Amino acid sequence: MAHPVNPYIGRFAPSPSGPLHMGSLLCALASYLDARANQGTWYVRIEDLDPPREVAGADQRILDSLSAHHLHWDSPPVYQSQRAEAYQHALQQLKHLGQAYRCSCNRKRLAELNHNYDNACRSRSISDNTPAAIRFHTDAARQAIHLETSNICFQDEIQGESGEDFHHTGDFVIHRKDGLFAYQLAVVVDDIAQGITHIVRGSDLLDTTAKQILLTLTFGHPPPIYRHIPVLTYDTGLKLSKQNHAQAIDDTSASHNLLRCLRYLNQSPPETLKNADCSSILEWAIEHWNLPLVPRCLSIPQ
Ligand code: GLU
Repeated sequence: MAHPVNPYIGRFAPSPSGPLHMGSLLCALASYLDARANQGTWYVRIEDLDPPREVAGADQRILDSLSAHHLHWDSPPVYQSQRAEAYQHALQQLKHLGQAYRCSCNRKRLAELNHNYDNACRSRSISDNTPAAIRFHTDAARQAIHLETSNICFQDEIQGESGEDFHHTGDFVIHRKDGLFAYQLAVVVDDIAQGITHIVRGSDLLDTTAKQILLTLTFGHPPPIYRHIPVLTYDTGLKLSKQNHAQAIDDTSASHNLLRCLRYLNQSPPETLKNADCSSILEWAIEHWNLPLVPRCLSIPQ
C-alpha cells in the first residue's frame, strides 16, 4: 500500500432484488478492499426503493453472505426505505429553486425520443392531479452553480474519461410517475448524508455518474471519486444480474469465492492462500491491494 487516502468513506449499495451473485460479490469485495487498504470506513446501504423489484428476505440474505465472506461493515446498514423524509426534503429544495418540474410524457413518447428527453414539459404546467414524474431541470441547476457547459466530464479512476452532455440527453427523472423516488436522487442524497468520498461499483453504473455529479454539485457538495470496476458477464456477453437469475453465491465456499474474485480483479493471490480462511485471504488482499492492476475494461467473462 503506497499512500493511504484520508479521509476515505466508501460503501456497497446493493438492491435487495435477489441474493448476492459472483458479480455483486466482486463489487462488494473491490469496494471493501479499496476502503480498508486506505484505512477507510466501509458502509453497506440497502437500496430498497423499488418494492415491485424486491424479493422478501433478500436484504438479510445479502448481509448474511457478506458476513460469511468476512466483509464486515462499520455501522448498521442504512435502508433507503427509511429515508423518504430526506428524499422529500431534497425534492422540495429543488422545486423551490425552480430546478424540478412535473412531466407527464408517456412511455411511448419517451421511447420515440430514444430516451433523450427533449425537455418538453419544462414549459407546461401540469396539475398535481395528473400522474406525472418529476424531472431535474439541468439547465436551471447549471446556471445556479455557474456551470457553463452542459457536458459533464469526469475522470473515472479505472475506466478513464467519461461524461454526459445534458444538451443531448435532456432532463432526468428524480421522482417517478408511480410515486417512487428515483435511484438518481436517492443515491446522491445518501452519498452526501453518509459523507461518501469514494465510490467503487460496477461499470454498468458509469452512465449514471454524470447525473449524480450534477445533482451533487447542485446540492453544494464536491462529487466523490469514482472507480468503476468491470462487470462479470456470461459467455454470451450478458451481464450477470439478479434480473437474469445469476446463480446465488454459495456461502459455504466463501474463501474460494474470495480467491476467484481476487483473480478477476487481477490481484494474483499466491498459491499459499489456496486453503486459507476468509480472514487470512482478506488480510493479504488489503495489504497487497493494487488498484492500478484492476482491469481497465467494462466487462470480463466469468
Ligand atoms: N443499488 C444499485 C445496484 O444494486 C447500486 C447503486 C450504486 O452503487 O450507486 O445496482
